[in-house]
Order: sequence, then C-alpha cells, then structure tokens
Amino acid sequence: MYTLNGTFTQETNFYGDNDVFNLVEQYGSPLYVYNENILRTRCREMKNLVSYENFVPHYSIKANTNIHLLKIVREEGLHADVMSPGEIFLALESGYTSDELFFIPNNVTKEDMLYAIERGVTTSVDSLAQLKLYGQLNAGGKVAIRFNTGIGAGHHEKVVTAGKKTKFGVSPDTIDEVKKLLETYNLTLVGINQHIGSLFMDATPYIQSLESILSIAREFDDLEFIDLGGGFGIPYHKQDGENRLDIQALGQKLDEVLHAFAASYGKKVQFQIEPGRYIVCESSAVLGHVTSMKSNGATNYLGCDIGFNIIQRPIMYDSHHDIELYAQTEKSSDLSPYTVVGNICESGDILAKDRLLPTAETGDLIALLDAGAYGYSMASCYNQRFRPAEVLIEANGHTRLIRKRDTFEDLIRNML
Ligand SMILES: *Cc1c(COP(=O)(O)O)cnc(C)c1O
Repeated sequence: MYTLNGTFTQETNFYGDNDVFNLVEQYGSPLYVYNENILRTRCREMKNLVSYENFVPHYSIKANTNIHLLKIVREEGLHADVMSPGEIFLALESGYTSDELFFIPNNVTKEDMLYAIERGVTTSVDSLAQLKLYGQLNAGGKVAIRFNTGIGAGHHEKVVTAGKKTKFGVSPDTIDEVKKLLETYNLTLVGINQHIGSLFMDATPYIQSLESILSIAREFDDLEFIDLGGGFGIPYHKQDGENRLDIQALGQKLDEVLHAFAASYGKKVQFQIEPGRYIVCESSAVLGHVTSMKSNGATNYLGCDIGFNIIQRPIMYDSHHDIELYAQTEKSSDLSPYTVVGNICESGDILAKDRLLPTAETGDLIALLDAGAYGYSMASCYNQRFRPAEVLIEANGHTRLIRKRDTFEDLIRNML
C-alpha cells in the first residue's frame, strides 16, 4: 500500500500493521477506523491538564457514543457529560455509574428530566422555565444551572454557544429570579456550568470567560462543582502545518485561576471541563473507495463512496478534513485541484472543494482524517445508505470490530 498524500497516518502508525485495503475488504466501505493509542493520549492530556487536585474532565459523549470507546475513556479516569436520555442510557451501558455523569440538556421535556432524576444523574438546567419544571419534579433536590456569560467562541456561527445570539444558558441578569426559584422549590444549587463554543485554537476567550462564570459562582454558597465547558480545538489542517492548541499554556493559566478561586471561595470546589472533540477527534479516520474521476466544465471531481450521510461536518459547518489517498501501486504524487464528492443524490454532497490532491483512480482508497468527533454520531442512512462499521486498532495493533455495518434489515427495522 502506498500513501499518496500526507504523512499523518504513517507518523502515528495509525493503522498498525493493517493494510487499509484489507480493512475495507473485511469490514466494508466506508469504514470508521479508530486508534486506541491516540484516544488514550488525548484523555491523559485532559486528565493531567492542571495540578489543582479536585479536577475532573468530563468527556462530552455526543462527539462519539460508541460504548467501546466510552469504556476506554472511562478507564482513563474521565467522567462523562450527557445531553439526552439516550446518552445517559449509552453511558450507563458502557459501565459509567450515575455519579460519574452530568446531564446538560437543552429544552428538554418532563420525561427527559425524570429519566435523569430517577437514575440520580446530576442535572443542569438552562432556562428559568426549565429550573421551575425541575423544581416541580424534584423539589428538595440538587440542581445545576448553565449560565450564559455573554462570551462566545468557535469556528463557525453554528457552534458558538454563548453570547446574546445563542439559545443557550441562563442570563446572569436573572440571578435574583434564580435564587427565588431555588428557594420556592427548596433546591440546592450544587453546580454551575458554561460552554462558550467549540473548537477554539487560541485559549484566550476560554480564559477570559472564566472571570464571568467565577463571579457568578461567588453568588452561591453551596457549590460543589464549577464546570468551565469544552470546545478545546484540534488542528484539522495538519497537512498545512497547523499548530496544536497549546494545552500546557492553557493548563498553567487555568491552574492559577482555579487555585486563586478556591482560596477566595474558602473551599476546594471541584472544577470540571467538558471536552468532546479533543478526546476522540484525532483517533479516527473514515476510509472509503475512490469510485470515479471526472471533469465537468472546469472542475475536476474525485467521486467516492463517502457521502454526507457518513460524515456531515463538511456540509453542515463547511469543515475541513485533511485527506489521504492510498494506492496499491506506486504512482505520481503531483497535485492538482479536485472537488471531492460523495454518492448522495444532492449537489451539496461535497467533502472538499478544489483540494490539491494527487490524481487518484477508481479502486484507490481515500481517508478523511480527524473524523472521530461528530462523525459517526451524526451519521444517518439518508438515501438508504448503510451506516458504516467501526473498527478499533487496539494498543496491541490488533483490529476489533466495535460496531457492525447496517444491513438491509436495519432499514426496515422500525417500519410497521
Ligand atoms: C458539544 C458540547 C461540548 C463539547 O464540545 P466540543 O467542541 O466537542 O469540545 C461540551 N459542553 C456542551 C454543553 C456541549 O453542548
């Protein structure tokens, strides 16, 4: 096998001793491949981010909910953030216990809340109306609140989750009303949380946002934890030499702030963060077949079997994924611009526009890198394409199937 473009999978020994052609033959194409070593490395970086003792990173499982990956993340000592009853269910199935979960939903129904309450999962509410509902369902209980401190950040408008233009969080202007509701329902506010947005590569807004959330924390005496949010970015443009987020510098700044807060608050309150992407993203590549090369007008197309049902990020957020190509025989690695498209019947089914790539041919393989976060978890069977299998390259180099590919039966499973 010859890698025609890029060095990431070679440098990281991503596929172990496995030949990618064998992998897709054995497990089907397209195929999500995960690397256990990379996943564990990222978990450890988050776990060791600060020296502050009472620090617990929570993996935001919406990024990827495969229970075999969740087991690994749990082994590494991370707790989990969940957004829905389905995510609570999957986390519990993977071996997490209720006290290791934090439920951070948005606009949930009474049934959703009850699902968490009945399982003893600490819940954060994100509006006064939801606080009231929670109080009615669990008077005398413990609750957390997500605040919107007005500072947002992120790589795309759709992933900025704080600030005046987003639907998330309780405004700090309403703290008096919050206090009244807590009193009415005899609720103890045990935690506050925020999440300013996703994929920051510069930690400045994250650090700046801390002062606001900590000043809200000072309004409440019984806090057990403060959750600072996720959004830690990863370098999607590795092939262009993009730098990693400097987590050492981030950790140092964070550490200072946490220690200073604990000293002024009078107790070593638990601090949490909630990275999703950072944990799983780089541990996966999605493999597919090059199915046709053609030109329409001035545009050269590289067609493949990875449609936007397999990975939605490029069409949803205009996201960039580095692309590697693999061939069975050596060929030229000269680059020309290609628009990379999938097999879904929509003209928007574009994975990359005018990307400089070597000239591939039918039968070669294509890999989209950094596909582990919001990849499979957003996959669908649109066009009645099967959702792909997921395979793990274990630390010992062996492959393990961790999710089967869909079958025709899956397409009619719920149809009456
Ligand atoms: C999605 C989400 C996260 C994780 O975001 P990443 O960008 O994947 O780190 C964390 N917290 C909340 C509340 C979220 O909605």
